[in-house]
Amino acid sequence: MDTWKRDLQQSIKRGEDFLAKSFDVDAQEINAVAKEYPVRITPHWQKLMKEKGDPIWLQVVPEVKELDEASGVDDPLHEDIDSPVPGITHRYPDRVLFLVTSVCAVYCRFCTRKRLVGRSADISDKTIEMGLKYIRETPRVRDVLLSGGDPLMLSDAKLEYIISSLRAIPHVEVIRIGTRIPVFLPSRITDDLCAMLKKYHPFYMNLHFNHPDEITEEVKAACGKLADAGIPLGAQTVLLKGINDNVEIMKKLMHKLLTIRVRPYYLYQADMTKGTAHFRTDPSVGLKIIKGLRGHTTGFAVPQYIIDAPGGGGKIPILPDSVVEWGEKEILLRNFEGGIYHYPRPEPDGVDGDRQKPTPQFVEMDLR
Ligand SMILES: *Cc1c(COP(=O)(O)O)cnc(C)c1O
Ligand code: SF4
Repeated sequence: MDTWKRDLQQSIKRGEDFLAKSFDVDAQEINAVAKEYPVRITPHWQKLMKEKGDPIWLQVVPEVKELDEASGVDDPLHEDIDSPVPGITHRYPDRVLFLVTSVCAVYCRFCTRKRLVGRSADISDKTIEMGLKYIRETPRVRDVLLSGGDPLMLSDAKLEYIISSLRAIPHVEVIRIGTRIPVFLPSRITDDLCAMLKKYHPFYMNLHFNHPDEITEEVKAACGKLADAGIPLGAQTVLLKGINDNVEIMKKLMHKLLTIRVRPYYLYQADMTKGTAHFRTDPSVGLKIIKGLRGHTTGFAVPQYIIDAPGGGGKIPILPDSVVEWGEKEILLRNFEGGIYHYPRPEPDGVDGDRQKPTPQFVEMDLR
């Protein structure tokens, strides 16, 4: 049997499994939550859980708070509503989200797709065929994002069937996968998998990391294999209360990602998903983190901070207010230290007259 399949079999799924491995939990409580929202924790992730309530623990160990029905909704992003065929969400003009499985190696307690993951039968071959047909018949789709669940839970053969079918569609330029497998189940990143994926370039991956302690030697090796297969690797991070909601942890995470050749892409504000309210921070926290990164560290270590608008509005970036004023002749800009600078606008006819006379470049400090 493949190592990664054996690792999955040795995962924690029930309250008793936690106790058998000497984790301090209330097994009955765990089982009550697991009945509603499944639990799975791979041996790799178990090794990283040092103590009850640490940032690694909190991401994956169920809490009764998840059963609070009053908070949030099942499908905050209207993924099932903005869906022309089951499994596909077509929200933006030229790209689609294509859910190809509903299972994951580990179930994150804060998952936006809590309504779906691990809860019912896996997505059927028939549904996948309908998705492929929709993409084939929709020429404006030039970018397909495979997600789930976690697409790398599929066998190499099934994954290759889907990816090669997409690659055979002339208007599909870019194929990408969103996955948390390299950090949950690094043994899944085999040489065979990498050799298969590299046949289908341009092929991109977005990995999901939330805390610097997730970046271990095994994870580094897995990401190295993917990068060596020529796959550009991005990182998505969810802003989570009590886990990564401050500048120091986030900066450390972003720096460590760059050392394993993964480039930060998005930092997500937690969605209003039912059963996840205890993870939500105020958006001002995310903005503060971005202000603490932008200019203070490597430009490409700074992710875009996104609120995915409830009700299907899509991803909206939250940015520090860098333009203080749009004047007729110049714009006033605020830099990362709070300094205010002028930038003269060119003459409408392209001839720079008086307007380009040097103005004092630095005006004042605005420490908002
Ligand atoms: C996030 C997302 C995408 C991809 O968005 P990018 O900004 O291009 O990464 C596409 N479709 C849906 C429905 C999404 O949620
Ligand atoms: S890996 Fe992704 S899809 Fe799976 S439970 Fe975690 S956040 Fe949800």
